[in-house]
Amino acid sequence: MKHLPSLESIQESIRRFEESEEADLREKLGVGPGIYYLIRKNSTTYPARLIFLDALNQEFPGSLPKAKQNSSEHSWIERHLENLGLEITAPALIAPPELRAEFRNRDLISDRFGGASQQGLVRFPGERIVNAFSEPKGGYADDEPSLQSPFGYRGQGPSGRQSLASPGNRLLESSRIERRPIRYWYRPAGGNFSFLTWAMVAGRVWVRGVGEDGAARVEINWQLLPIPDEHPENWSTDAIAALEFPVAPEAELSEMPEVASQPSYAELIERLPKAPGGPPRRTRVQIETQRSSVARRAALLRSSGKCEWPDCGGMPAETDKHGAPILQVDHIADLAKGGPDRPENMIALCPNCHAVKTLGGEPDRWRSRLSQIAREGHERMLRTNPREAPVNPASGNEGISTSGHSIRAE
Ligand SMILES: [Zn+2]
Repeated sequence: MKHLPSLESIQESIRRFEESEEADLREKLGVGPGIYYLIRKNSTTYPARLIFLDALNQEFPGSLPKAKQNSSEHSWIERHLENLGLEITAPALIAPPELRAEFRNRDLISDRFGGASQQGLVRFPGERIVNAFSEPKGGYADDEPSLQSPFGYRGQGPSGRQSLASPGNRLLESSRIERRPIRYWYRPAGGNFSFLTWAMVAGRVWVRGVGEDGAARVEINWQLLPIPDEHPENWSTDAIAALEFPVAPEAELSEMPEVASQPSYAELIERLPKAPGGPPRRTRVQIETQRSSVARRAALLRSSGKCEWPDCGGMPAETDKHGAPILQVDHIADLAKGGPDRPENMIALCPNCHAVKTLGGEPDRWRSRLSQIAREGHERMLRTNPREAPVNPASGNEGISTSGHSIRAE
Protein backbone atom coordinates (compact mmCIF):
# COMPACT_ATOMS: atom_id res chain seq x y z
CA MET A 1 0.00 0.00 0.00
CA LYS A 2 1.19 3.46 -0.88
CA HIS A 3 1.96 5.72 2.09
CA LEU A 4 0.66 9.25 1.80
CA PRO A 5 1.62 12.10 4.12
CA SER A 6 -1.10 13.84 6.13
CA LEU A 7 -1.88 17.52 5.89
CA GLU A 8 -0.22 18.02 9.29
CA SER A 9 3.06 16.57 8.14
CA ILE A 10 2.92 18.62 4.91
CA GLN A 11 2.46 21.77 6.94
CA GLU A 12 5.26 20.72 9.27
CA SER A 13 7.42 20.15 6.18
CA ILE A 14 6.64 23.63 4.83
CA ARG A 15 7.81 25.09 8.15
CA ARG A 16 10.96 23.00 7.97
CA PHE A 17 11.55 24.14 4.38
CA GLU A 18 11.40 27.78 5.46
CA GLU A 19 14.03 27.15 8.09
CA SER A 20 16.49 25.08 6.08
CA GLU A 21 18.63 25.32 3.01
CA GLU A 22 16.72 24.09 0.00
CA ALA A 23 19.85 22.55 -1.51
CA ASP A 24 20.48 20.48 1.62
CA LEU A 25 16.93 19.23 1.64
CA ARG A 26 17.13 18.30 -2.02
CA GLU A 27 20.34 16.42 -1.50
CA LYS A 28 18.97 14.56 1.51
CA LEU A 29 15.88 13.48 -0.41
CA GLY A 30 17.55 12.95 -3.77
CA VAL A 31 15.37 15.51 -5.59
CA GLY A 32 17.06 17.39 -8.43
CA PRO A 33 16.95 21.17 -8.74
CA GLY A 34 14.30 21.31 -11.49
CA ILE A 35 11.28 23.54 -10.93
CA TYR A 36 7.99 21.75 -11.36
CA TYR A 37 4.74 22.10 -9.48
CA LEU A 38 4.44 24.43 -6.55
CA ILE A 39 2.30 24.59 -3.44
CA ARG A 40 0.92 28.09 -2.96
CA LYS A 41 0.22 29.08 0.63
CA ASN A 42 -0.34 32.65 1.82
CA SER A 43 1.00 33.98 -1.52
CA THR A 44 4.28 32.12 -1.07
CA THR A 45 5.20 29.11 -3.18
CA TYR A 46 7.03 25.94 -2.23
CA PRO A 47 8.35 23.12 -4.43
CA ALA A 48 5.55 20.58 -4.24
CA ARG A 49 7.51 17.37 -4.67
CA LEU A 50 10.25 18.34 -2.28
CA ILE A 51 7.69 19.18 0.41
CA PHE A 52 5.74 16.00 -0.29
CA LEU A 53 8.80 13.76 -0.11
CA ASP A 54 10.10 15.45 3.03
CA ALA A 55 6.72 15.01 4.73
CA LEU A 56 6.55 11.41 3.58
CA ASN A 57 10.05 10.75 4.86
CA GLN A 58 9.19 12.20 8.27
CA GLU A 59 5.88 10.43 8.64
CA PHE A 60 6.89 7.10 7.11
CA PRO A 61 10.69 6.85 7.25
CA GLY A 62 12.21 4.71 4.53
CA SER A 63 9.18 4.83 2.25
CA LEU A 64 10.43 7.26 -0.42
CA PRO A 65 8.98 6.25 -3.78
CA LYS A 66 11.28 5.26 -6.59
CA ALA A 67 8.96 6.93 -9.09
CA LYS A 68 10.26 9.56 -11.47
CA GLN A 69 10.31 12.39 -8.98
CA ASN A 70 11.24 14.99 -11.53
CA SER A 71 8.70 14.31 -14.22
CA SER A 72 6.93 17.49 -15.23
CA GLU A 73 3.59 15.71 -15.58
CA HIS A 74 0.96 16.26 -12.96
CA SER A 75 0.95 13.00 -11.01
CA TRP A 76 -0.46 11.27 -7.97
CA ILE A 77 1.80 13.46 -5.80
CA GLU A 78 0.12 16.68 -6.92
CA ARG A 79 -3.26 14.98 -6.84
CA HIS A 80 -2.75 13.96 -3.24
CA LEU A 81 -1.71 17.49 -2.26
CA GLU A 82 -4.81 18.88 -3.97
CA ASN A 83 -6.96 16.32 -2.18
CA LEU A 84 -5.57 17.68 1.09
CA GLY A 85 -6.99 21.06 0.10
CA LEU A 86 -3.67 22.64 -0.90
CA GLU A 87 -3.40 24.93 -3.90
CA ILE A 88 -1.11 23.55 -6.59
CA THR A 89 0.32 25.88 -9.18
CA ALA A 90 3.37 26.10 -11.48
CA PRO A 91 5.79 28.80 -12.67
CA ALA A 92 4.19 29.08 -16.12
CA LEU A 93 0.76 29.49 -14.52
CA ILE A 94 1.97 32.27 -12.23
CA ALA A 95 3.98 34.13 -14.90
CA PRO A 96 3.82 32.60 -18.38
CA PRO A 97 6.55 33.53 -20.88
CA GLU A 98 5.94 36.85 -22.56
CA LEU A 99 6.03 37.20 -26.31
CA ARG A 100 9.60 38.02 -27.42
CA ALA A 101 11.05 36.97 -24.07
CA GLU A 102 14.67 35.96 -24.70
CA PHE A 103 16.79 33.37 -22.97
CA ARG A 104 20.40 32.60 -23.62
CA ASN A 105 19.78 28.86 -23.77
CA ARG A 106 17.30 26.06 -23.22
CA ASP A 107 18.51 25.31 -19.69
CA LEU A 108 17.55 28.80 -18.56
CA ILE A 109 14.07 28.33 -20.02
CA SER A 110 13.79 25.06 -18.20
CA ASP A 111 15.02 26.61 -14.93
CA ARG A 112 12.35 29.24 -15.22
CA PHE A 113 9.30 27.27 -16.33
CA GLY A 114 10.22 23.62 -15.83
CA GLY A 115 9.95 21.02 -18.57
CA ALA A 116 12.72 19.07 -20.26
CA SER A 117 15.46 21.12 -21.87
CA GLN A 118 16.43 18.35 -24.30
CA GLN A 119 13.21 18.01 -26.26
CA GLY A 120 12.11 20.07 -29.25
CA LEU A 121 8.48 19.87 -28.17
CA VAL A 122 7.62 20.36 -24.51
CA ARG A 123 4.84 21.42 -22.20
CA PHE A 124 5.62 23.39 -19.08
CA PRO A 125 4.19 21.96 -15.87
CA GLY A 126 0.61 23.04 -15.30
CA GLU A 127 -0.07 23.95 -18.93
CA ARG A 128 -1.68 22.25 -21.92
CA ILE A 129 0.16 24.64 -24.26
CA VAL A 130 2.87 23.04 -26.38
CA ASN A 131 6.19 24.84 -26.90
CA ALA A 132 8.02 24.13 -30.17
CA PHE A 133 11.74 24.96 -30.29
CA SER A 134 13.73 25.48 -33.47
CA GLU A 135 17.16 26.69 -34.44
CA PRO A 136 18.75 26.96 -37.86
CA LYS A 137 21.51 24.39 -37.72
CA GLY A 138 21.78 20.66 -37.44
CA GLY A 139 19.49 17.77 -38.08
CA TYR A 140 15.94 19.01 -38.70
CA ALA A 141 14.88 20.66 -41.96
CA ASP A 142 12.61 23.28 -40.37
CA ASP A 143 11.76 26.33 -42.42
CA GLU A 144 12.96 29.67 -41.28
CA PRO A 145 10.00 30.99 -39.34
CA SER A 146 7.76 33.66 -40.75
CA LEU A 147 5.59 36.07 -38.85
CA GLN A 148 3.14 36.37 -41.73
CA SER A 149 2.67 33.09 -43.51
CA PRO A 150 2.63 29.39 -42.64
CA PHE A 151 6.01 27.75 -42.29
CA GLY A 152 7.17 24.18 -41.91
CA TYR A 153 8.33 22.52 -38.73
CA ARG A 154 9.68 18.99 -38.99
CA GLY A 155 8.27 16.31 -36.76
CA GLN A 156 10.02 14.66 -33.87
CA GLY A 157 12.29 11.69 -34.44
CA PRO A 158 15.90 12.01 -35.61
CA SER A 159 16.10 8.80 -37.66
CA GLY A 160 13.73 6.32 -39.23
CA ARG A 161 10.22 6.96 -40.41
CA GLN A 162 8.56 9.60 -38.27
CA SER A 163 5.31 8.67 -36.58
CA LEU A 164 2.35 10.49 -35.11
CA ALA A 165 2.69 8.17 -32.13
CA SER A 166 5.96 9.64 -30.87
CA PRO A 167 5.46 11.91 -27.85
CA GLY A 168 6.37 15.23 -29.48
CA ASN A 169 4.30 14.59 -32.60
CA ARG A 170 1.40 13.51 -30.43
CA LEU A 171 1.55 16.86 -28.66
CA LEU A 172 1.41 18.75 -31.96
CA GLU A 173 -1.35 16.54 -33.32
CA SER A 174 -3.55 17.15 -30.29
CA SER A 175 -2.86 20.89 -30.52
CA ARG A 176 -3.94 20.71 -34.16
CA ILE A 177 -7.13 18.77 -33.48
CA GLU A 178 -8.09 20.86 -30.46
CA ARG A 179 -7.01 24.07 -32.23
CA ARG A 180 -4.91 25.01 -29.26
CA PRO A 181 -2.27 27.68 -29.97
CA ILE A 182 1.34 26.75 -29.40
CA ARG A 183 4.36 28.86 -28.51
CA TYR A 184 7.05 28.89 -31.18
CA TRP A 185 10.56 29.49 -29.84
CA TYR A 186 13.41 30.25 -32.19
CA ARG A 187 17.12 30.89 -31.87
CA PRO A 188 18.67 32.62 -34.89
CA ALA A 189 22.28 31.70 -35.59
CA GLY A 190 24.43 33.24 -32.90
CA GLY A 191 21.47 34.70 -31.02
CA ASN A 192 19.26 33.92 -28.05
CA PHE A 193 16.23 31.69 -27.84
CA SER A 194 13.13 33.82 -27.93
CA PHE A 195 9.42 33.17 -27.76
CA LEU A 196 9.00 34.45 -31.29
CA THR A 197 5.32 33.97 -31.98
CA TRP A 198 2.12 32.21 -31.10
CA ALA A 199 1.16 29.74 -33.80
CA MET A 200 -1.60 27.38 -34.76
CA VAL A 201 -0.80 23.90 -35.99
CA ALA A 202 -2.67 24.46 -39.25
CA GLY A 203 -1.93 21.11 -40.84
CA ARG A 204 0.67 18.51 -41.64
CA VAL A 205 2.02 16.81 -44.72
CA TRP A 206 4.24 13.81 -45.21
CA VAL A 207 7.45 14.67 -46.96
CA ARG A 208 10.62 12.95 -47.96
CA GLY A 209 13.55 13.77 -45.79
CA VAL A 210 16.90 12.51 -44.63
CA GLY A 211 17.42 11.22 -41.10
CA GLU A 212 20.33 11.89 -38.82
CA ASP A 213 21.70 8.54 -39.97
CA GLY A 214 21.79 9.83 -43.56
CA ALA A 215 19.04 7.48 -44.75
CA ALA A 216 16.08 8.72 -46.78
CA ARG A 217 12.89 8.52 -44.81
CA VAL A 218 9.38 9.89 -44.34
CA GLU A 219 9.05 12.98 -42.20
CA ILE A 220 6.12 14.95 -40.94
CA ASN A 221 6.15 18.58 -41.99
CA TRP A 222 3.88 20.46 -39.60
CA GLN A 223 2.42 23.64 -41.02
CA LEU A 224 2.64 26.32 -38.37
CA LEU A 225 0.62 29.45 -38.87
CA PRO A 226 1.70 32.55 -36.93
CA ILE A 227 -1.08 34.25 -34.98
CA PRO A 228 -0.91 37.49 -33.00
CA ASP A 229 -1.82 35.99 -29.64
CA GLU A 230 -3.56 33.05 -28.00
CA HIS A 231 -7.06 34.54 -28.21
CA PRO A 232 -9.04 33.27 -31.24
CA GLU A 233 -11.20 36.41 -31.32
CA ASN A 234 -8.09 38.37 -32.39
CA TRP A 235 -7.11 36.16 -35.31
CA SER A 236 -7.61 37.18 -38.91
CA THR A 237 -10.02 35.39 -41.18
CA ASP A 238 -6.96 34.18 -43.13
CA ALA A 239 -5.66 32.55 -40.00
CA ILE A 240 -8.91 30.79 -39.40
CA ALA A 241 -9.22 29.69 -43.03
CA ALA A 242 -5.72 28.24 -42.85
CA LEU A 243 -6.89 25.85 -40.19
CA GLU A 244 -8.53 23.94 -43.01
CA PHE A 245 -5.15 22.77 -44.31
CA PRO A 246 -5.37 19.20 -45.58
CA VAL A 247 -3.94 16.44 -43.44
CA ALA A 248 -3.07 12.98 -44.65
CA PRO A 249 -3.96 10.16 -42.28
CA GLU A 250 -0.95 8.14 -41.24
CA ALA A 251 -2.62 4.96 -42.41
CA GLU A 252 -2.65 6.20 -46.02
CA LEU A 253 1.06 6.41 -46.10
CA SER A 254 2.87 3.16 -46.63
CA GLU A 255 5.66 4.34 -48.87
CA MET A 256 7.50 7.54 -49.59
CA PRO A 257 5.19 10.48 -50.15
CA GLU A 258 4.43 11.50 -53.73
CA VAL A 259 6.37 14.38 -55.15
CA ALA A 260 3.01 15.71 -56.33
CA SER A 261 1.99 16.30 -52.73
CA GLN A 262 4.38 19.23 -52.64
CA PRO A 263 2.79 22.67 -52.86
CA SER A 264 2.90 24.08 -56.36
CA TYR A 265 4.57 27.36 -57.23
CA ALA A 266 1.17 29.05 -57.39
CA GLU A 267 0.26 27.65 -53.98
CA LEU A 268 3.49 28.97 -52.52
CA ILE A 269 2.82 32.41 -54.02
CA GLU A 270 -0.63 32.34 -52.41
CA ARG A 271 1.00 31.94 -49.01
CA LEU A 272 3.17 35.02 -49.36
CA PRO A 273 2.12 38.17 -47.55
CA LYS A 274 -0.14 40.27 -49.77
CA ALA A 275 1.53 43.63 -49.18
CA PRO A 276 4.88 43.73 -50.97
CA GLY A 277 7.79 44.35 -48.68
CA GLY A 278 6.05 43.22 -45.53
CA PRO A 279 5.53 45.19 -42.34
CA PRO A 280 8.17 47.53 -40.97
CA ARG A 281 11.19 45.95 -39.38
CA ARG A 282 11.72 46.73 -35.78
CA THR A 283 13.91 44.33 -33.91
CA ARG A 284 16.82 42.18 -34.90
CA VAL A 285 14.79 39.04 -34.44
CA GLN A 286 12.15 40.33 -36.81
CA ILE A 287 14.72 41.13 -39.46
CA GLU A 288 16.06 37.60 -39.17
CA THR A 289 12.65 36.08 -39.57
CA GLN A 290 11.18 38.23 -42.28
CA ARG A 291 13.26 36.47 -44.86
CA SER A 292 10.38 34.46 -46.12
CA SER A 293 11.10 30.78 -46.41
CA VAL A 294 8.08 30.48 -48.67
CA ALA A 295 9.59 32.88 -51.20
CA ARG A 296 12.89 30.98 -51.10
CA ARG A 297 11.09 27.73 -51.59
CA ALA A 298 9.21 29.15 -54.56
CA ALA A 299 12.46 30.36 -56.16
CA LEU A 300 13.99 26.91 -55.69
CA LEU A 301 10.93 25.25 -57.17
CA ARG A 302 11.13 27.57 -60.19
CA SER A 303 14.80 26.66 -60.67
CA SER A 304 13.98 22.92 -61.04
CA GLY A 305 17.19 22.29 -59.14
CA LYS A 306 19.38 24.04 -61.72
CA CYS A 307 21.31 27.26 -61.53
CA GLU A 308 19.10 29.95 -63.07
CA TRP A 309 21.96 31.79 -64.80
CA PRO A 310 21.52 30.81 -68.48
CA ASP A 311 25.24 30.74 -69.21
CA CYS A 312 26.10 28.78 -66.10
CA GLY A 313 29.15 26.65 -66.66
CA GLY A 314 29.83 25.39 -63.18
CA MET A 315 26.85 23.75 -61.53
CA PRO A 316 28.37 21.18 -59.13
CA ALA A 317 27.30 17.59 -59.68
CA GLU A 318 27.37 16.88 -55.95
CA THR A 319 24.31 17.29 -53.77
CA ASP A 320 24.06 18.56 -50.22
CA LYS A 321 23.66 16.26 -47.22
CA HIS A 322 19.90 16.15 -47.80
CA GLY A 323 20.33 15.03 -51.40
CA ALA A 324 19.33 18.43 -52.74
CA PRO A 325 21.20 20.36 -55.45
CA ILE A 326 23.65 22.92 -54.13
CA LEU A 327 21.94 26.22 -54.88
CA GLN A 328 21.98 29.55 -53.14
CA VAL A 329 18.95 31.78 -53.25
CA ASP A 330 19.85 35.43 -53.49
CA HIS A 331 17.86 38.63 -53.58
CA ILE A 332 18.53 40.48 -56.84
CA ALA A 333 17.77 43.92 -55.35
CA ASP A 334 19.01 43.78 -51.76
CA LEU A 335 16.41 43.47 -49.03
CA ALA A 336 18.30 46.11 -47.09
CA LYS A 337 17.83 48.53 -49.99
CA GLY A 338 14.10 47.86 -50.19
CA GLY A 339 14.10 44.94 -52.61
CA PRO A 340 10.94 42.87 -52.11
CA ASP A 341 11.14 39.52 -50.36
CA ARG A 342 9.37 37.78 -53.21
CA PRO A 343 10.48 35.18 -55.74
CA GLU A 344 10.28 37.76 -58.57
CA ASN A 345 13.23 39.39 -56.83
CA MET A 346 15.03 36.16 -56.02
CA ILE A 347 17.31 33.93 -58.02
CA ALA A 348 18.65 30.44 -57.39
CA LEU A 349 22.32 30.28 -58.33
CA CYS A 350 25.04 27.70 -58.08
CA PRO A 351 27.97 28.72 -55.87
CA ASN A 352 30.07 29.73 -58.90
CA CYS A 353 27.48 31.99 -60.47
CA HIS A 354 26.59 33.37 -57.05
CA ALA A 355 30.21 34.35 -56.56
CA VAL A 356 30.37 36.02 -59.97
CA LYS A 357 27.17 37.95 -59.27
CA THR A 358 28.47 39.15 -55.90
CA LEU A 359 32.16 39.66 -56.65
CA GLY A 360 32.28 40.03 -60.42
CA GLY A 361 33.06 43.22 -62.31
CA GLU A 362 29.68 43.66 -63.98
CA PRO A 363 27.14 43.76 -61.16
CA ASP A 364 24.68 45.96 -63.03
CA ARG A 365 24.58 43.76 -66.11
CA TRP A 366 24.03 40.71 -63.90
CA ARG A 367 21.33 42.36 -61.87
CA SER A 368 19.32 43.52 -64.83
CA ARG A 369 19.54 40.17 -66.61
CA LEU A 370 18.76 38.19 -63.45
CA SER A 371 15.82 40.44 -62.80
CA GLN A 372 14.39 39.62 -66.20
CA ILE A 373 15.04 35.89 -65.73
CA ALA A 374 13.30 35.88 -62.35
CA ARG A 375 10.29 37.81 -63.64
CA GLU A 376 9.90 35.65 -66.72
CA GLY A 377 10.32 32.48 -64.71
CA HIS A 378 7.75 33.68 -62.20
CA GLU A 379 5.19 34.32 -64.93
CA ARG A 380 5.95 31.02 -66.62
CA MET A 381 5.42 29.17 -63.33
CA LEU A 382 2.11 30.87 -62.67
CA ARG A 383 0.89 29.97 -66.17
CA THR A 384 1.77 26.33 -65.61
CA ASN A 385 -0.99 24.10 -64.39
CA PRO A 386 -0.33 23.80 -60.64
CA ARG A 387 -0.58 19.99 -60.78
CA GLU A 388 2.07 19.85 -63.47
CA ALA A 389 4.43 22.33 -61.95
CA PRO A 390 7.97 21.09 -62.44
CA VAL A 391 9.40 19.68 -59.26
CA ASN A 392 13.00 18.83 -58.86
CA PRO A 393 13.00 15.03 -58.86
CA ALA A 394 16.07 14.83 -56.66
CA SER A 395 14.26 16.38 -53.76
CA GLY A 396 10.56 15.89 -53.45
CA ASN A 397 11.08 17.50 -50.14
CA GLU A 398 9.82 20.80 -48.90
CA GLY A 399 13.18 21.35 -47.34
CA ILE A 400 14.99 21.49 -50.68
CA SER A 401 16.15 24.95 -49.79
CA THR A 402 19.56 25.43 -48.34
CA SER A 403 17.86 27.25 -45.50
CA GLY A 404 16.56 26.45 -42.14
CA HIS A 405 17.90 23.10 -41.11
CA SER A 406 17.52 23.13 -37.40
CA ILE A 407 18.40 20.85 -34.59
CA ARG A 408 16.23 19.36 -31.95
CA ALA A 409 18.00 17.20 -29.47
CA GLU A 410 15.97 14.14 -28.58
ZN1 LIG B 1 25.65 28.62 -62.16
